[in-house]
Amino acid sequence: MSQASHQQEFSNNSNVDSENALLKVSGVGFDYDNASILDDVSLSVGRGEFVALVGPSGCGKSTLLNLISGVLEVREGSINTNGLVGRAERLGNVSYMQQKDLLLPWRTVAENSRLGLELNGVNTAESNERVEKLAELFDIADVLDHMPWQLSGGMRQRVALLRAVLPDNPVLLLDEPFGALDAITRRSLQQWLLNVLATADKAVVLVTHDVDEAILLADRILVMAPNPGRIVADIEVNVEAITNSTDISTSPEVIQIRTGILDLLSRQEVVR
Ligand code: ADP
Repeated sequence: MSQASHQQEFSNNSNVDSENALLKVSGVGFDYDNASILDDVSLSVGRGEFVALVGPSGCGKSTLLNLISGVLEVREGSINTNGLVGRAERLGNVSYMQQKDLLLPWRTVAENSRLGLELNGVNTAESNERVEKLAELFDIADVLDHMPWQLSGGMRQRVALLRAVLPDNPVLLLDEPFGALDAITRRSLQQWLLNVLATADKAVVLVTHDVDEAILLADRILVMAPNPGRIVADIEVNVEAITNSTDISTSPEVIQIRTGILDLLSRQEVVR
């Protein structure tokens, strides 16, 4: 099957009314040193929707998250997060968890967790109260006074995620949040994340190299191609139907989706 027909097969799956999307990326392009990194990238993510971005290394996934979060300035196209269109407005109002947990080594778990709230001007007493309220759910209640070096990798990621989630921003960006973890910890955190976000009503964008992680977590998977980075497929995943079935890895729907994505990705490697 040609790449064009794959695109057609997988396109138009979005059931998001783009007018009501919490995150709307329209015609975004980006260059580094005159090299085109992203070209005409458009996507919408609705309230309560979880979208995964998969694509080969270097296709611009992190650059796209940096543009959405306001770390980088949009020069071509536009980005709107819940009505915020300027870079400075979005910075701090979009939650962004990067692959490295970036916990500050001199602050306790509680102090790290409340960092986003502090930056938003929330006072220490209220920040602490909000950290404590969620600490149980994030399974870090017993380690709030620990230092980051005392924590396991999985715990560190949960602290980083709590820090990202606490400011209660409507858009949450996750860049390879479980990339550095072993397979077992990773699998249990994926399940845990699904439960934590089930009622969160946020628009979530996850960057991952792991196609099965994308299938498990996302409502839609956007596949990117490199040189320049662009979206070549938009695939709907019915998580509920899949998780209700016996084993995600052997479910026929999952195998079909996984094969389609891996086929698209392998084709890009050849093109590159
Ligand atoms: P991905 O997240 O998909 O691996 P990135 O968004 O990190 O891709 O990078 C996309 C491309 O932009 C890569 O070719 C990378 O080398 C390039 N790039 C990233 N950051 C910079 C930078 N600061 N200066 C120049 N090129 C960069």
